[in-house]
Amino acid sequence: MDHEQAVRQMTDIVARFTDYAGKHLPDDIMGKLTELRAAEGSPLARVVYDSMFDNLAMAAQLNRPCCQDTGVIQYYLKAGSRFPLLAEVRHILTEAAATATRTAPLRHNAVQIFEEKNTGTNTGERIPWIDWDIVPDSSGIEIEVYMAGGGCSLPGQGKTLMPAAGYEGIVAFVFEVMTTYGVNACPPLLVGIGIGGSIDVAANLSKRALFRPIGSRHPHPRGAAMELLLEKGLNEIGLGPQGLSGTNSVMGVHIETAARHPSTISVAISVGCWAHRRGTLRINDDLSYEILSHKGAQL
Ligand code: SF4
Repeated sequence: MDHEQAVRQMTDIVARFTDYAGKHLPDDIMGKLTELRAAEGSPLARVVYDSMFDNLAMAAQLNRPCCQDTGVIQYYLKAGSRFPLLAEVRHILTEAAATATRTAPLRHNAVQIFEEKNTGTNTGERIPWIDWDIVPDSSGIEIEVYMAGGGCSLPGQGKTLMPAAGYEGIVAFVFEVMTTYGVNACPPLLVGIGIGGSIDVAANLSKRALFRPIGSRHPHPRGAAMELLLEKGLNEIGLGPQGLSGTNSVMGVHIETAARHPSTISVAISVGCWAHRRGTLRINDDLSYEILSHKGAQL
C-alpha cells in the first residue's frame, strides 16, 4: 500500500468509528447505566431509565445518533513516536470528522468565531479539537473519539483558588458548580475534575478525566478517597435520571492531577452526561485496528 492509500484507509477507519461512536455508548457506560437503573426505587426514575435504554436500542436499530446534540468532535491521542502516518494525523482526523458528519449524519456544530457562521462540516478553526500525547518507542496510535455536547462537557467551569482554600475549597467549588450548571447536562453525570497549578492545566485534566473507565480510581489513596467521598456527596443531592430526582446523581467522579505552584491551586470541572459518547480505537502501524471501548463492534 502506498502512502496515499494508507492515508485514505486510516481516514476511512476513523470516520466509520466516529460515526459509530455517535450511535452506541461504550461498554462501561452501558454497564453503569444498567447498575443505576437497578438501584432506583421510584417508578418515575425507572421510567426515565427505560426511555434511555429504548432510545439507545432505537438508535442502534435505525442507525441514527443517540442524541440530537452530536456535539463538538474531539480527538484525544496517544500517538506513538514511530507511527508511520504521524505527520498526516491532523489532516486524517479533520477529514474523518467531516465524513462522519455526512454519513452518520451528525448535527453541524462548528461556528467560526467572529464570522459567526456554521461551517456545516463539523470542521473549522481548531475543530475537530485534537489533544496529543506522544508515546516514545511505539509505532501505533490510540484515539479517543469524544462528542462534547453543548449542555454537558463544553460549558465546563474552573477557578484558581488561594492555597489557603485547600481541598475544602475544591470540594466547595465542585458542589457549587454541580448544583448550578451541573444540572444543565442530562444526569446521571460523569464528573471530571482537574486539579493543578493553573487554570489551563486544570481544564485539560478535567476533560481527560472523562476518558478514564468508569470505576477506575486516582492512583494516590487520598485522590481515590476524595473521588469516593465526592461521589457519595453528589449522589445525596438526588438528581436522578434527567434531573427528575432519584437515588443517584452521578455515574462517577474522576480526578486527574498535576503538581502545582505553592501559591496556587486551580480546579476545573467538565461534566459528561448519560449519553457519554466516547470510544477508544487503537490503530497499528500496518493499519490493523482494535476497538477497545465497544466489545464486538463492527465498523
Ligand atoms: S446533555 Fe447529553 S444527552 Fe443531554 S442533550 Fe446534551 S448531549 Fe444530549
